[in-house]
Amino acid sequence: MVATRKARLLLRAGAKLTVVAPAIEQELEYLLLEYEGIWQQHHYCEDDLHHKQLVVAATPDRSVNERIYRDASARSLPVNVVDNPDLCSFIFPSLVDRDPVLVAVTSSGRSPVLTRILRRQIEALIPAGYGGLAKFSGRLRQKVRAAIPEDSSRRLFWEQVLEGAEAEHVLAGREQKAEETLERRLRESAGPVSGEVYLIGAGPGDPDLLTFKAARLLQRADVVLYDRLVSSEIVDTARRDAERIYVGKRRAEHSLPQTEINQLLVDLAQQGKRVARLKGGDPFIFGRGGEEIEQLASEGIPFQVVPGISAANGAACYAGIPLTHRDYAQSVRFVAGYLKGNSIEHDWRSLQSTSETLVFYMGLLGLPEICHQLQVYGRSPGTPMALVERGTKREQRVLVGSLATMQDIAARERPSAPTIIIVGDVVRLHSTLSWFGEAN
Ligand code: SAH
Repeated sequence: MVATRKARLLLRAGAKLTVVAPAIEQELEYLLLEYEGIWQQHHYCEDDLHHKQLVVAATPDRSVNERIYRDASARSLPVNVVDNPDLCSFIFPSLVDRDPVLVAVTSSGRSPVLTRILRRQIEALIPAGYGGLAKFSGRLRQKVRAAIPEDSSRRLFWEQVLEGAEAEHVLAGREQKAEETLERRLRESAGPVSGEVYLIGAGPGDPDLLTFKAARLLQRADVVLYDRLVSSEIVDTARRDAERIYVGKRRAEHSLPQTEINQLLVDLAQQGKRVARLKGGDPFIFGRGGEEIEQLASEGIPFQVVPGISAANGAACYAGIPLTHRDYAQSVRFVAGYLKGNSIEHDWRSLQSTSETLVFYMGLLGLPEICHQLQVYGRSPGTPMALVERGTKREQRVLVGSLATMQDIAARERPSAPTIIIVGDVVRLHSTLSWFGEAN
């Protein structure tokens, strides 16, 4: 039975088949007749391998199968011993056959049942007419290649055809109509296809803080690139069928180096895609957004930049801490608080003014250094300080203390990233102006 199944597969694939066996099933006999195969009615001997290119051993005798495997291997012939993955130099995968489209599924002999289940799922997924679609594309390939010589534009063209009206026509058996539609599309797409990039500020977390423009462009994008600071609710506002690419970044653990992100933006746009690059907060505030579009600019790729609500603005509002106030602060400064080695490189002297609010981004690890240096350079130990953890999100937490006490508070409460640090007298207002989360 197994032999008959394998024989049928091989014969249908166009193999010239010789079956060696003292006796065979009637069905196999008919098959050999139909496809002009040969039956040699005797037990296996090594000479049977002469002038053969591929060997399948399906005898009921284990030792014979092993002998066949050894003999074939000695002659460097590909060999498959049925139901014995260790004695196979090639496999027969399970096939989803939409000739000329073939999908092969295998679990490398580990789980035939899983293979079958998977095959059934794939069968259901691929319309029966897909073979016809492949033949249709094959027939028009040369013509399209001549009309659109540039590779990425041509790929995009085919994507549109194979997911567009042409495909519908072919699957419904209207080849002529499909071809006419394709010809029309070919005439219309005479110019090169050009993609574009939207560098979008996604705000600090609450999806309601997305701008209208951000929401509109997200609906238009074919691909969305996002990182860890962008919440999944925001990524979900993109078009359902848009491709989503995570290029996440954590401190000291970059999933994709910045240069690769820059290049990815260029590549996708050059494939004619509309690419939304989502950045937490505002793209131009500690977001490296500038670097990402520099390369786009130098390659002449069109782009737009959409401002977003930066963490300082979002977290301050949601924590009830006005960043400026007539009585307390006449200016506000956004400062990078990340450690380089063991210290933060800053002109600390310039951060002394008591009428200036300081907002430290990326400052959680450098907190002890920030508290220490500000005091060394003249700010009083009692200067109010707040940590806003996950600002604007449902889980937002606000920790209030002073330059002198904040380290202890943080050690106890263990805030995690993303957290922003606000320093200055305005922090006092939190106790009366707090409105979000815990206050409600
Ligand atoms: N471009 C972003 C900042 C990126 S730098 C913006 O404009 O907001 C990353 C830092 O931003 C984090 O280390 C943290 O200090 C701050 N941050 C981002 N989102 C935040 C949030 N929801 N709550 C508190 N801080 C946040």
